[in-house]
Amino acid sequence: MIKLHNLMEDEVEYIIDKLLKKRKDVCSCEKCRLDIEAISLNNLPPKYVVTKMGEIYERLDIMNFQFEADLVKEVEKAIQIVKDSPHHTDMER
Ligand SMILES: [Zn+2]
Repeated sequence: MIKLHNLMEDEVEYIIDKLLKKRKDVCSCEKCRLDIEAISLNNLPPKYVVTKMGEIYERLDIMNFQFEADLVKEVEKAIQIVKDSPHHTDMER
């Protein structure tokens, strides 16, 4: 089985992980993480590849320093938005 995969999702998840580890002031519950991911991905161009299920693909071949810096900037913005108005409720936590 083959499917489309947006490499940007992996990159954004990776960067959110990295940033949230350093930001103890930001909620890292599943809802907030996904909100941060959604906001970031909506502001970034997708990078689609065709992939076989379970196939390992090169993650770094689309990456360079400037690109990573831009990603970090977008994710930082998304973190700030979610931090200012988190959408989680007590019931979801
Ligand atoms: Zn939360």
